[in-house]
Amino acid sequence: MTFAENLASIRQRIAAACQRAGRAEASVTLLAVSKSHPPETIRAAVDAGQFHFGENKIQEAKAKIPLSPSKARWQFIGHLQSNKVRDAVELFEMIQGVDSLAIAREISKRAEQAAKTMPILLEVNVAGEASKFGYNPEQLLAELSELNALPRLEIHGVMAIPPFSPVAEKSRPYFQRLRELKTRAEAVLGAPLPHLSIGMSGDFEVAIEEGATMVRVGTALFGERQKVVRPAAD
Ligand SMILES: *Cc1c(COP(=O)(O)O)cnc(C)c1O
Repeated sequence: MTFAENLASIRQRIAAACQRAGRAEASVTLLAVSKSHPPETIRAAVDAGQFHFGENKIQEAKAKIPLSPSKARWQFIGHLQSNKVRDAVELFEMIQGVDSLAIAREISKRAEQAAKTMPILLEVNVAGEASKFGYNPEQLLAELSELNALPRLEIHGVMAIPPFSPVAEKSRPYFQRLRELKTRAEAVLGAPLPHLSIGMSGDFEVAIEEGATMVRVGTALFGERQKVVRPAAD
């Protein structure tokens, strides 16, 4: 299958899920997760009409983005370390995966230095997994006002990666939990949060049924990722 064929098939499945959920197709953004794939692949994807890409390693993104078509738009979807924030602010139009006040403060500070305002999503550890990053839901609500007060940070919503399962339905309760948390966060802020970033290759249709505004799809678009050797520091 070519990228264009995969893209057509994923778009069709997104449209069908939207129809089942009584939602407009335009309410879901497809973020193509291009980690581990080279700039030539990005070019092929842009030629096929895909413009939003997600990367989870700063070092990889820093090398790839300048070599990719300028029409490509980039979001950071990984765990961010404070010494990488400056690069992240420069490279990405949104940072998904903010999970502490400390990193949020650093983003705001670096955004100010770059004369920017940075849209972010807060990452939630929906199943309380020790192996995953992300806010505990109660902690997020407790820190929300302070996060929202940071001058150069714009909270656009929440994101989560539920525990891996080959069965898509298993993700549904976690997606529901995140959607409920978003509603509670909106009540605290007194304002709507536009984004619910949930759903990956194995469960994006369930995510759309549960209100996803952004699905992050890698393998189903690009095929299996090569295992690449990377420096441990990133
Ligand atoms: C890799 C990754 C994805 C995409 O996963 P696939 O199963 O390949 O679709 C989505 N979100 C995040 C945060 C990722 O790191």
